Amino acid sequence: MSKWVYGFGGGAADGDASMKNLLGGKGANLAEMSSLGLPVPPGFTITTEACVHYYSNGQTYPDALKGQVAEGLAKVEGVVGKRFGDAANLLLVSVRSGARASMPGMMDTVLNLGLNDQTVEGLAGLSGDRRFAFDSYRRFITMYSNVVLGIGHDRFEELLDDHKDRQGVSIDTDLTAKDWERLVGDYKALVERELGRPFPQDPHDQLWGAIGAVFASWMNDRAKFYRRMHDIPESWGTAVNVQSMVFGNMGETSATGVAFTRNPSTGEARLYGEFLINAQGEDVVAGIRTPQSLTRAGREEMGDKAPSMEEAMPEVFGQFVDVIGRLESHYRDMQDIEFTVEQGRLWMLQTRNGKRTAKSALKVAVDLASEGVISREEAVSRVEPAALDQLLHPTLDPMAHRHVIATGLPASPGAATGKIVFDADEAERLNQLGDAVILVREETSPEDIHGMHAARGIVTARGGMTSHAAVVARGMGRPCVSGAGEIRIDDKAGEFTARGRTFRAGQIITIDGAKGEVLDGAVDMIEPELTGDFQTLMGWADEVRRLRVRANAETPHDAKTARGFGAEGIGLCRTEHMFFDGDRIAAVREMILADDEAGRRVALAKIEPFQKADFVELFEIMAGLPVTIRLLDPPLHEFIPHDEADIDALAASSGLDAGKLKRRARELHETNPMLGHRGCRLGVAYPEIYEMQVRAILEAALEVKAKSGDAPIPEIMHPLVALGLEMKYLRELTDRTAHAVFEAAGDRVEYLVGTMIELPRAALRAGDLAEHAEFFSFGTNDLTQTTFGISRDDSGRFLQAYLDKGVFETDPFVRLDQEGVGELIEIATERGRKTRPGMKLGICGEHGGDPASISFCESIGLDYVSCSPYRVPIARLAAAQAALAAASGEEREKDR
Ligand code: PEP
Ligand code: MG
Repeated sequence: MSKWVYGFGGGAADGDASMKNLLGGKGANLAEMSSLGLPVPPGFTITTEACVHYYSNGQTYPDALKGQVAEGLAKVEGVVGKRFGDAANLLLVSVRSGARASMPGMMDTVLNLGLNDQTVEGLAGLSGDRRFAFDSYRRFITMYSNVVLGIGHDRFEELLDDHKDRQGVSIDTDLTAKDWERLVGDYKALVERELGRPFPQDPHDQLWGAIGAVFASWMNDRAKFYRRMHDIPESWGTAVNVQSMVFGNMGETSATGVAFTRNPSTGEARLYGEFLINAQGEDVVAGIRTPQSLTRAGREEMGDKAPSMEEAMPEVFGQFVDVIGRLESHYRDMQDIEFTVEQGRLWMLQTRNGKRTAKSALKVAVDLASEGVISREEAVSRVEPAALDQLLHPTLDPMAHRHVIATGLPASPGAATGKIVFDADEAERLNQLGDAVILVREETSPEDIHGMHAARGIVTARGGMTSHAAVVARGMGRPCVSGAGEIRIDDKAGEFTARGRTFRAGQIITIDGAKGEVLDGAVDMIEPELTGDFQTLMGWADEVRRLRVRANAETPHDAKTARGFGAEGIGLCRTEHMFFDGDRIAAVREMILADDEAGRRVALAKIEPFQKADFVELFEIMAGLPVTIRLLDPPLHEFIPHDEADIDALAASSGLDAGKLKRRARELHETNPMLGHRGCRLGVAYPEIYEMQVRAILEAALEVKAKSGDAPIPEIMHPLVALGLEMKYLRELTDRTAHAVFEAAGDRVEYLVGTMIELPRAALRAGDLAEHAEFFSFGTNDLTQTTFGISRDDSGRFLQAYLDKGVFETDPFVRLDQEGVGELIEIATERGRKTRPGMKLGICGEHGGDPASISFCESIGLDYVSCSPYRVPIARLAAAQAALAAASGEEREKDR
């Protein structure tokens, strides 16, 4: 019989930390902590497989689940010596989700489950605190109604506010036991009015309601959005953790908090976190009360008045420090911990590897390696390549003038400028229109996730360093200032005030997430300096990497940026980009309008010096490194305007003949330009174009050789080749032209002639192409387009529907389709190298900067990847991780 339920607690557990896939991250770590003998409230985990079963069987549970849950519950009762539903000896539980990958706040949680009209009296008697008992009951009704019964949280808040108004009190802590008791009555009446039936009183009904709600929350919109954003497959499902309750709200010796063993923003190796006395966990995470520091040093730094945990509860604090030290050594990584103190007794509710900014990830990895806790290779594997993107973007210029309008907590570093918006949907709408926005909220909740994603930065008026806004912003790499208490938001008026000034929606502000400042207007930014931990880790990555990393670049600026980021050459210089600039475009149009070859040659002679000068500059910037130059690729009509008015304007400004322009535009018109007269088909039809380009490349190389004595090795690349004979023709054209250049110069340089593989036929007949081509570069943008028969320019119209319906798990233009396009690449690799052993192979489509695609390139033995300059560091790290993964796979093979 399948095992659907795994117990933990009392110093033992059925599972362990290695079982994340089955038990979810939270469940696996609760089991591990229990086995380590740490104080964990006993409970059990319903597996992710039960969730998968639930969804693949018309939302029904496996047959054996009921019995196994009952057994699990009985075991918990045995360990804690209390009984579920027994008013005289009461056990209450929490019910929480817990997927394989953590999805903070995306799914549902119910606390205090098991309370009803009888057991609340039991809780009052047992705790000796009637106020606490009824406060717990009303929290439970609110949460349960919201999560399981679908009645909005705000409906209950309204009743609470009305009651407070009537009593003339403003804060919850002024309410008495009688008040909460009255409110419980009001809450139950609200539920009955809404649903036509009373609030469920049977604890077992409550439990199954909550379990069903957690499974259901796997498919809520925010969970789906989060999964898409973080590439988490829907097929994983979530586990459900049912755990005996401990209370952080049982008076002044009780507390609840969250901690990181190191700073999640900066990586500094110092305990970091917050807690609240007399509160339940959700109060900290939801940012409803601003929490206190854990340590005295933290309090002093923040300038807080309220005592730290170190000062308020020194004994428990000592025990806590000991426990989390053990956890960090055990997991060998920075831990993110949730805990509760119930009447002076410490309980651990969760531990996991902490989410962190890229800066923190680098520092923690480098520090742990330096401390000897992990190896350098492990350090390289620990940093997510895509996260490096956060470090590659500008920060505020320290010399720039700053007009601070409010300060808050430095919740997530980085700087951003944008228009103020107060609403997540509006943030998304404006972002789609191309506006940079800063989302300003009282506090954020999981419903705001799409707006946070769309915003360049986030500001909240309330909440601490571990509030929802702070945690999510750090995970997304968005700068964030949280708890900027000076900001008073008036949602209805669409404005906020701070320090006596009013700022309206649409006004520009800047935030500095590293300092916690909100600034008026736009502030100058500076390029990042990639030193320190970044350089150290990239150095370690370069030591283990096999794949070379080049950049796609044609302008001197891009080429310099790419070198600065560590590019080892240019993998794709798209020469047509050089055709559009300033004076050249006039000569390009003249060439297109020419009636015959002679006319074209006259125009080409005007373009040639520009091309040559551009290549000289590129070769000089890339001194000593390979530079792959692709000859003209797009159809010629892309260089002339299409509608009448634009043609007339061009004719007027350039002196070209309008009638001739229109006729030529009509002649060049194609129904499917992507499948039309483009790529090497231009070179075959108009060889003089490619001859001019080859001459410019080689003359530039000779010039650089003459100047510096150091000859570059140009790699001349022909696009969109399909046939062996096409390649033969192009090879001969190239060699013939080269020969003429070298004859005239009385000198020569090395050069390579190769092709892009962008068509399925080219991949299949790679053996023929390799007879004449000395290298291949996989143009996976076109290869994806031509393999799927999906236009890369039009796919946006229907791709979303495919993604929403799960037909595509990811956009194939972003992440290489390894099964289809990947198989063609493998075939071409094998057949190409069979004809020409050891031939140089690379990839230059967008996929060259995508870590998962890079790992594929490693696995099939390509020589290099080429990507846009800003992705070069990401590719270097991804290539290193791919090499490490391949090596460890080989190790495992050997052991077998
Ligand atoms: C490609 O097709 O993958 C490629 C790199 O060329 P382009 O994007 O210029 O068509
Ligand atoms: Mg292409």
